[in-house]
Amino acid sequence: MQMGTNFSFIEENYKRILYNVDETVAKYRKSDEKVDIIAVTKTVAPDAVNFAISCGINKIGENRVQEYLSKKDYYDKKADVHFIGHLQSNKVKYIINDINLIQSVDSIKIAQQINNFAEKTGKIQDILIEVNVGGEETKYGISPNMLKDTVLEISTLNNVKIKGLMTILPINASEEIFYKMQKLYIDILEENIDNIDMKILSMGMSNDYQTAIKYGSNMIRVGSALFGERVY
Ligand SMILES: *Cc1c(COP(=O)(O)O)cnc(C)c1O
Repeated sequence: MQMGTNFSFIEENYKRILYNVDETVAKYRKSDEKVDIIAVTKTVAPDAVNFAISCGINKIGENRVQEYLSKKDYYDKKADVHFIGHLQSNKVKYIINDINLIQSVDSIKIAQQINNFAEKTGKIQDILIEVNVGGEETKYGISPNMLKDTVLEISTLNNVKIKGLMTILPINASEEIFYKMQKLYIDILEENIDNIDMKILSMGMSNDYQTAIKYGSNMIRVGSALFGERVY
């Protein structure tokens, strides 16, 4: 760690996020419902990430394989690591041993690839299925009308386990889109599909996590609200 670096703003940001989460849960959700906070680390130096972990963050979100590989040795190992960026098939082997949850499974093909590598290492890899609920061409994710069939197909793979859904919402999404995502999640949950364990709805980032919690999110992914605006 660079001596004298003052990260107290990260602690203040974290406390503000916790306060907002608690307030939103109290307003819209059952009091025993928990919301997990994932600290999104893209472009953030490992010492700042470790400071966040010392404040109580216990899950970090990684977007890019290269960046993760260059930083992972410096990370405090106390935190779980989630992969949240678009994952290319040829990169799966570099991360399969370390990642607790791959949130960004956006095709049957990548699920099969993860399954193959997980099988080799004797692992059952937890995954979320990424949904492009806003139907944006620029975003990855399964389209809502393909979701059930995709989940059914991936559920037949032995070395991956579906734990829920993830989405990256359009900027300034209307509440109808949040609601649409909540409904997709509940619909799949109520299907009671074999070999899946629907528990996680990963929705909401720095600008919209309170609305996401209102619509059932139990996992928010925050970068800039925690670490400050990204420089690049
Ligand atoms: C960057 C990123 C986030 C966090 O974005 P902020 O707006 O900085 O909170 C969340 N999820 C994914 C997939 C991201 O790439």
